[in-house]
Amino acid sequence: MGLMLNRALERLDFLGHISDNPCYLVRTYLSPANRRAAGCLLGWMAELGMQTQHLPDGTVRGVLPGAAPEAKPLLLGSHLDTVTNAGKYDGALGLIAALAALEELRDQGIQLPFPVHLLGFSDEEGVRFQTTYLGSRGVTGQLDLETRARLDAAGQSQSLVLATEGWHEDASNIHYVAGSVRGYVELHIEQGRSLEEFDEAACVVSGINGQSRLLVTLTGRADHAGTTPMEFRRDSLTGAAEAILATEKLARDHPGLVATVGKIEVLPGGSNSIPEVTSFTLDFRHAVDAERVRLLKALENSVRKITASRELELNWQLVQENDAVVCDAELARNLCDALERVTGSRRQLASGAGHDGVAISKVAPIGMIFVRCRGGLSHHPDEYVSPADIGVGIRVLVEFLKSLPA
Ligand SMILES: [Zn+2]
Repeated sequence: MGLMLNRALERLDFLGHISDNPCYLVRTYLSPANRRAAGCLLGWMAELGMQTQHLPDGTVRGVLPGAAPEAKPLLLGSHLDTVTNAGKYDGALGLIAALAALEELRDQGIQLPFPVHLLGFSDEEGVRFQTTYLGSRGVTGQLDLETRARLDAAGQSQSLVLATEGWHEDASNIHYVAGSVRGYVELHIEQGRSLEEFDEAACVVSGINGQSRLLVTLTGRADHAGTTPMEFRRDSLTGAAEAILATEKLARDHPGLVATVGKIEVLPGGSNSIPEVTSFTLDFRHAVDAERVRLLKALENSVRKITASRELELNWQLVQENDAVVCDAELARNLCDALERVTGSRRQLASGAGHDGVAISKVAPIGMIFVRCRGGLSHHPDEYVSPADIGVGIRVLVEFLKSLPA
């Protein structure tokens, strides 16, 4: 296990240095660094004796046939992409822990009675197209036309980017359909503080909270900053500022709701021009789907009042919506059994963050393991998981895989 853990730590470090920017870690959908990271994972999977595939949409897969290659496979996976200025554990740890667990089984001379497919998804964070799970939606046939029409910062549509990579509708892409796999299991950092508070290294995930993502655009009128009196202005940015503060207030007033504006764009974007168009992203989450929908409607109504009073046009665009997902009871029980053998705990926690399991849950039962991260911090270069906790996570995966019946 010591050697295995060292190798896992080295691999995390290695992936953590594969970046599209020399100053910080960032890998986005189909970016050069994302492809290099995918190639790296591909190499490690091949070393393990897996049959490997690099899909045109950037996702990679390794297949370990097991004793009964025709049996329904178990999917393991996580994502290769990162946010901008990321830590090295979010996504990568799940892939490296899965690899380490499979290597440990090989070294113990254990052949699983079913195939394992290890998937490294090209996009989970949604940085490039502001829409999440492109990798896991890709392998489950959920890349709809609306998603593929979305534009990146360079004005390229996802369709165009995919076509450039040789992807097309009828290509021999991986396509998991409902009932074709026995389940999907992912190990991920917790990205919260609960495990630290409980002083536990890992837990099993009970479900994933629902989420709405929006793009909100306010349009006013551009004009000269020096010659336009205040009362004649239709300033989209000041309207957006009021809308963003209303968002924060709503979330503060409703425990359980978290709402975030993470990106804002202003046109024409000159210091001496009144902002004509301001658009911002809105990320809106709640554990209870009906509450999320109700509060989002309430927010939309208040933003409509704000924009009407300022004579601004409002475009309230829902980009993505995912209902809460409940993890599969049987997988959760198997994972809890494995967790208990390693740590003595059967703790389960709900995930406030979204994960690829949300997309995979449309076709397969899902289960997840969370590993403690320092201070709950993620999406930050100081993200940290102790080697001991990584070791616990790998051992839980090993125990889980060993315990599954044929
Ligand atoms: Zn992640």
